Amino acid sequence: EVFAQLTLSRPLLRGIASMGYVTPTKIQSSVIPVALAGRDICASAVTGSGKTAAFLLPILEKLLYRSPGRIQALVLAPTRELAAQCIGMMSTLSQFTKIQAALVVGGAKNVASQTAELRARPQLVVATPGRLLDHITNSAGVSLEDVEFLVLDEADRLLDLGFHDEVTEIIKACPGERQTMLFSATLNTKVDDLIKLSLKRPVRVKI
Ligand code: AMP
Repeated sequence: EVFAQLTLSRPLLRGIASMGYVTPTKIQSSVIPVALAGRDICASAVTGSGKTAAFLLPILEKLLYRSPGRIQALVLAPTRELAAQCIGMMSTLSQFTKIQAALVVGGAKNVASQTAELRARPQLVVATPGRLLDHITNSAGVSLEDVEFLVLDEADRLLDLGFHDEVTEIIKACPGERQTMLFSATLNTKVDDLIKLSLKRPVRVKI
């Protein structure tokens, strides 16, 4: 199988080629068609499986046909490093499109410049939970009310790192009518609770 069979648009296929990818990984072949069909997804997948492109590509495909000026997609990651990797991959994959993204994490960048970036309403935001919650609570004009696509990346680690309350609050700040994808290396009762809270009739993908 090749990426062109996954019914992704030309600018994205060019982005994929520039990453040097030729064949979709297993998780990508499983997740991309289901995500493009609009279903919620619960996937067990580890780092190294190609999971980042598996959720980014269908979201980018959908965002190509949305008008900009609203935060339409949100990726929650447990650590700054993971969020940074995700936004890096997003920039390369989307380089032949006009889709704008912002990285919202604690540390280095100051809150004020992140606020300005968020007020510009990038179509996609990649964030760690604490800092994002800070913004939606304290920065006027920053809201998640237009989010149509939500990704909970490494859900087990999000919970292990103590982000249960923040993640719950962020999910509740997103519209109920949305598409959600949850990725987790391991499944346990805490992750199950998060699945029940965030996903509607999810398609289960196991690699
Ligand atoms: P991830 O599991 O998303 O952290 O990706 C692990 C690594 O696999 C990253 O370095 C990706 O750039 C790479 N990768 C993802 N998808 C593919 C693909 N279809 N072909 C080759 N490498 C890939």
